[in-house]
Amino acid sequence: MGLRLKVALWVLLLYLIGGGFSLLLLRDQLRTSYGELDREAAVEQLGQLLQALDEQLLQLDLGLRAWSHWDELHRHVLHPDAAFAARNLSPQTVAAAGVSWLAVHRADGSLALQVSAPEAASWGLPESLTPGVLRQLEQAKLQGSSRSLPCGLARSGAQLLMLCQRALLGSAGQVPTHGAAAVTIAARLDARISHKLNSHSAMRFLLEPLGSTQGLRGEALAVDLPSLSGQGPVRLQEQGDELQLSWPLRDISGVPVAALQGYWPRQGLALAEALLGRVGALVLGLAATLALGLMLVPNRLVIVRLEKLGRELREIRQSRDWARRVSVQSDDEVTELAKGTNDLLAIIADQVQALEALTRSDPLTGLANRRGFDERLHQALAQSRRDGRPLCLLLADVDFFKRYNDHYGHQQGDQALKTVAACLSQSARRPADLAARLGGEEFALLLPDTDLPGARHCATALQRAMREAAVVHEAGPESGVLGLSLGLAQLQPEDDAERLYLRADQALYRAKQGGRNRLSE
Ligand code: GH3
Ligand code: MG
Ligand code: MG
Repeated sequence: MGLRLKVALWVLLLYLIGGGFSLLLLRDQLRTSYGELDREAAVEQLGQLLQALDEQLLQLDLGLRAWSHWDELHRHVLHPDAAFAARNLSPQTVAAAGVSWLAVHRADGSLALQVSAPEAASWGLPESLTPGVLRQLEQAKLQGSSRSLPCGLARSGAQLLMLCQRALLGSAGQVPTHGAAAVTIAARLDARISHKLNSHSAMRFLLEPLGSTQGLRGEALAVDLPSLSGQGPVRLQEQGDELQLSWPLRDISGVPVAALQGYWPRQGLALAEALLGRVGALVLGLAATLALGLMLVPNRLVIVRLEKLGRELREIRQSRDWARRVSVQSDDEVTELAKGTNDLLAIIADQVQALEALTRSDPLTGLANRRGFDERLHQALAQSRRDGRPLCLLLADVDFFKRYNDHYGHQQGDQALKTVAACLSQSARRPADLAARLGGEEFALLLPDTDLPGARHCATALQRAMREAAVVHEAGPESGVLGLSLGLAQLQPEDDAERLYLRADQALYRAKQGGRNRLSE
């Protein structure tokens, strides 16, 4: 797998782990926060409904005020007046006042009168409106509370009623001296109120009858909702996509008579999920972009340059051109690598050069060896042909050298060969000249751009140098010093390298034949 893909996969993996972890945390946070918002919104809606319920009760109480401040009604309670009752207390007049049911109790709790609207003819007295409760209400009134008696709820059979009570006072609001009484009116609490609210609210409300022993389900919330219909607590339970809030509606004696159920769609949760989805898509998109970006950036900064370095190195290896160098750009780690590579290439080039020089030189004398000589001979020949310049070859062979070796020993023989080599080097000083040891005690001088007179001059210089070196050879020639036989040949148009060499060798042979220590052409 290439570096590009590795980097991209690692980035993608790390980003996904980090992103996934953050998303999980975010999910928890969002669910909690939005769940809290949902709860708050639901409780607020319930509060509004309870407020609307209270307003209905207060309106009922307002209607009750006219009844409770009616002298004639009070008189009628004490001294029943059939004409008054027929005129004012018929089912129709009660219904016309928007009331389902009207009752007046005497101070001792006994029922003085009761009138039902036609719709409520069969309902009977609300269960909770017992004489005991009436006594409590009466006591409250006698303890100085001349204002209204409480409003609340009551149940009559299957019906839920809103119910208000007030002391029956005189029209001026005074407590009549001839006996206290309380008037109660009730109106049906029907679906109208929940309809009304349902049409204004995202919350769906239901009223459900509740037995006194039946409790509400759900977690009790620590919120205080002021209401005439009870003291709560609000209970909450989660039901799928909805929050269900339950509020116990109690009658005026505090007995639960119904449950007000509110169903709140968990919009917050849906919002949180949608938000999470968007954030998740964003995280994924960012991860992909980043991975792609990181694939391109190292690609440009590192990988492309590494590939180029690898390509250049391959070319150098294949061409064996150790003098070449890889390109160096910028000043980062890749550049350091390229510089290091160039340093290594320089070392290799030096070593190769040294090795090649060794293969072309004679280890004893330091002159070119046979191989070096052959190469230079061919090059010089070609050059001479191109330039039309002369080329001479001088071959030298040490005279009686076997005897020298036999007499002085091989080691001293080597020293003598070194001396001969030094004489050769001295006598051919042009940069293009080449002194070589062809093998044993045979040497050569390759003299490019040199004609025969020039070559003779070199040969003479060589003989002079040998004379000056005066290597003593008692076992050899009459002179008593080491001498060289020389064969000289100039390149002729028909010559190739072998032929030139052959002619120089033949000249050398003649020099030997002629008595040695001399030059032949
Ligand atoms: P000529 O005058 O006819 O050339 O006689 P020569 O003795 O010089 O020739 P020959 O070919 O008979 O002998 C060459 C001798 O050179 C044989 C060997 O002892 C000696 N020789 C060859 N190479 C080396 C070398 O590397 N070191 C030493 N010390 N002697 C060598
Ligand atoms: Mg020889
Ligand atoms: Mg010899």
